[in-house]
Amino acid sequence: MWKLALVGLALLAPCPLAAQEPQRHTGPHEHGHGAINLAIEGNRMLVELRAPGADIVGFEHPARSGEEKAAVAKAEALLRAPLGLIALPAEAGCRVETATVAVTGGAEHGHREAGHSEFRGEYVFVCDRAPAIRRIGFPYFRLFPRTGELDVTVITAAGQQAFEVSPAAPEIVLTRTP
Ligand SMILES: [Zn+2]
Repeated sequence: MWKLALVGLALLAPCPLAAQEPQRHTGPHEHGHGAINLAIEGNRMLVELRAPGADIVGFEHPARSGEEKAAVAKAEALLRAPLGLIALPAEAGCRVETATVAVTGGAEHGHREAGHSEFRGEYVFVCDRAPAIRRIGFPYFRLFPRTGELDVTVITAAGQQAFEVSPAAPEIVLTRTP
Protein backbone atom coordinates (compact mmCIF):
# COMPACT_ATOMS: atom_id res chain seq x y z
CA MET A 1 0.00 0.00 0.00
CA TRP A 2 2.77 2.36 0.97
CA LYS A 3 4.88 1.81 -2.14
CA LEU A 4 1.84 2.13 -4.37
CA ALA A 5 1.01 5.44 -2.78
CA LEU A 6 4.49 6.80 -3.44
CA VAL A 7 4.34 5.74 -7.08
CA GLY A 8 0.97 7.46 -7.23
CA LEU A 9 2.49 10.64 -5.85
CA ALA A 10 5.27 10.62 -8.42
CA LEU A 11 2.87 10.05 -11.30
CA LEU A 12 0.31 12.60 -10.24
CA ALA A 13 2.39 15.42 -8.86
CA PRO A 14 3.44 18.08 -11.39
CA CYS A 15 6.06 19.34 -8.97
CA PRO A 16 9.60 18.59 -10.19
CA LEU A 17 10.75 17.48 -6.75
CA ALA A 18 8.12 14.77 -6.66
CA ALA A 19 8.83 13.77 -10.26
CA GLN A 20 12.43 12.99 -9.31
CA GLU A 21 11.39 10.80 -6.45
CA PRO A 22 11.70 7.34 -8.06
CA GLN A 23 15.41 7.91 -8.77
CA ARG A 24 16.21 8.87 -5.20
CA HIS A 25 18.73 11.45 -6.36
CA THR A 26 19.44 14.62 -4.54
CA GLY A 27 18.99 17.13 -7.33
CA PRO A 28 19.79 20.79 -6.95
CA HIS A 29 17.21 22.26 -4.64
CA GLU A 30 16.27 25.74 -3.60
CA HIS A 31 17.40 26.67 -0.13
CA GLY A 32 14.57 27.82 2.07
CA HIS A 33 12.19 25.60 0.16
CA GLY A 34 11.05 22.14 1.28
CA ALA A 35 8.36 19.74 0.15
CA ILE A 36 5.85 17.59 1.99
CA ASN A 37 3.62 15.04 0.25
CA LEU A 38 0.69 13.48 2.09
CA ALA A 39 -1.34 10.58 0.78
CA ILE A 40 -4.42 9.50 2.68
CA GLU A 41 -5.69 6.00 1.94
CA GLY A 42 -8.42 4.64 4.12
CA ASN A 43 -7.31 5.10 7.72
CA ARG A 44 -3.63 5.51 6.85
CA MET A 45 -1.75 8.64 5.98
CA LEU A 46 1.65 8.44 4.33
CA VAL A 47 3.81 11.51 4.59
CA GLU A 48 7.05 12.22 2.79
CA LEU A 49 9.25 15.20 3.63
CA ARG A 50 12.24 16.55 1.72
CA ALA A 51 14.18 19.54 2.97
CA PRO A 52 17.58 21.03 2.10
CA GLY A 53 20.24 20.58 4.75
CA ALA A 54 20.61 24.37 4.61
CA ASP A 55 17.07 24.70 5.98
CA ILE A 56 17.40 22.07 8.65
CA VAL A 57 20.87 22.57 10.11
CA GLY A 58 22.24 25.54 8.13
CA PHE A 59 24.92 23.60 6.23
CA GLU A 60 25.09 20.82 3.65
CA HIS A 61 28.57 19.39 4.01
CA PRO A 62 28.98 16.24 6.09
CA ALA A 63 29.02 17.15 9.78
CA ARG A 64 32.63 17.44 10.95
CA SER A 65 32.84 19.34 14.19
CA GLY A 66 31.21 18.19 17.39
CA GLU A 67 28.85 21.12 17.10
CA GLU A 68 27.78 20.13 13.58
CA LYS A 69 27.30 16.51 14.58
CA ALA A 70 25.18 17.60 17.52
CA ALA A 71 23.09 19.81 15.22
CA VAL A 72 22.43 16.88 12.88
CA ALA A 73 21.56 14.56 15.77
CA LYS A 74 19.14 17.13 17.20
CA ALA A 75 17.53 17.70 13.79
CA GLU A 76 17.12 13.96 13.25
CA ALA A 77 15.44 13.62 16.63
CA LEU A 78 12.99 16.44 15.76
CA LEU A 79 12.30 14.90 12.35
CA ARG A 80 11.63 11.50 13.92
CA ALA A 81 8.70 13.03 15.79
CA PRO A 82 6.35 14.00 12.95
CA LEU A 83 3.52 15.15 15.24
CA GLY A 84 5.80 18.08 16.04
CA LEU A 85 6.18 18.88 12.33
CA ILE A 86 2.57 18.71 11.20
CA ALA A 87 -0.44 19.44 13.38
CA LEU A 88 -3.46 17.25 12.72
CA PRO A 89 -6.98 17.75 14.11
CA ALA A 90 -7.33 15.90 17.41
CA GLU A 91 -10.64 14.43 16.30
CA ALA A 92 -8.88 12.56 13.48
CA GLY A 93 -7.16 10.47 16.16
CA CYS A 94 -3.93 9.99 14.22
CA ARG A 95 -0.89 8.29 15.69
CA VAL A 96 2.52 7.58 14.26
CA GLU A 97 3.08 4.02 13.11
CA THR A 98 6.53 4.40 11.57
CA ALA A 99 8.98 7.28 11.18
CA THR A 100 12.22 7.08 9.23
CA VAL A 101 14.70 9.85 8.66
CA ALA A 102 17.69 9.88 6.32
CA VAL A 103 20.25 12.41 5.16
CA THR A 104 21.24 12.17 1.50
CA GLY A 105 23.89 13.84 -0.59
CA GLY A 106 26.62 16.07 0.75
CA ALA A 107 30.04 16.79 -0.71
CA GLU A 108 31.51 13.41 0.05
CA HIS A 109 28.83 11.39 -1.72
CA GLY A 110 28.75 11.47 -5.51
CA HIS A 111 30.04 14.23 -7.70
CA ARG A 112 26.77 14.97 -9.45
CA GLU A 113 25.22 16.38 -6.38
CA ALA A 114 27.29 19.55 -6.16
CA GLY A 115 27.53 19.36 -2.41
CA HIS A 116 23.82 19.63 -1.73
CA SER A 117 22.40 17.48 0.99
CA GLU A 118 18.83 16.86 1.99
CA PHE A 119 16.98 15.51 4.95
CA ARG A 120 14.21 13.08 4.09
CA GLY A 121 11.50 11.80 6.32
CA GLU A 122 8.96 9.08 5.63
CA TYR A 123 6.08 8.58 8.00
CA VAL A 124 3.06 6.36 8.29
CA PHE A 125 0.17 7.50 10.46
CA VAL A 126 -2.89 5.46 11.40
CA CYS A 127 -6.00 7.55 12.07
CA ASP A 128 -9.30 6.70 13.75
CA ARG A 129 -11.18 9.17 11.53
CA ALA A 130 -9.19 10.19 8.48
CA PRO A 131 -12.15 12.20 7.07
CA ALA A 132 -11.69 14.57 10.00
CA ILE A 133 -8.38 15.69 8.50
CA ARG A 134 -9.57 19.01 7.10
CA ARG A 135 -6.95 21.40 8.40
CA ILE A 136 -3.27 20.69 8.73
CA GLY A 137 -0.89 23.06 10.48
CA PHE A 138 2.87 23.20 10.08
CA PRO A 139 4.67 23.85 13.36
CA TYR A 140 7.64 22.67 11.26
CA PHE A 141 8.40 26.35 10.59
CA ARG A 142 8.98 26.99 14.28
CA LEU A 143 11.41 24.07 14.52
CA PHE A 144 13.27 24.97 11.33
CA PRO A 145 13.04 28.76 11.00
CA ARG A 146 15.40 28.89 8.02
CA THR A 147 12.52 27.51 5.94
CA GLY A 148 10.70 30.11 3.85
CA GLU A 149 8.22 27.86 2.12
CA LEU A 150 6.92 24.31 1.91
CA ASP A 151 5.22 22.87 -1.16
CA VAL A 152 2.52 20.62 0.18
CA THR A 153 0.74 18.08 -1.99
CA VAL A 154 -2.19 16.16 -0.61
CA ILE A 155 -3.56 13.11 -2.40
CA THR A 156 -6.79 11.47 -1.34
CA ALA A 157 -9.38 9.38 -3.10
CA ALA A 158 -11.00 12.73 -3.97
CA GLY A 159 -7.96 13.83 -5.99
CA GLN A 160 -4.83 15.89 -5.62
CA GLN A 161 -4.54 19.31 -3.99
CA ALA A 162 -1.41 21.45 -3.96
CA PHE A 163 -0.56 24.21 -1.49
CA GLU A 164 2.29 26.53 -0.63
CA VAL A 165 2.67 27.22 3.05
CA SER A 166 4.94 29.73 4.74
CA PRO A 167 5.71 30.92 8.26
CA ALA A 168 3.13 33.68 7.77
CA ALA A 169 0.44 31.19 6.64
CA PRO A 170 1.43 27.84 8.15
CA GLU A 171 -1.85 26.00 7.65
CA ILE A 172 -3.81 24.35 4.86
CA VAL A 173 -7.51 23.70 4.60
CA LEU A 174 -8.52 20.81 2.38
CA THR A 175 -11.31 21.68 0.02
CA ARG A 176 -11.93 18.01 -0.71
CA THR A 177 -11.68 15.88 2.38
CA PRO A 178 -10.72 12.22 2.45
ZN1 LIG B 1 21.58 22.80 -1.16
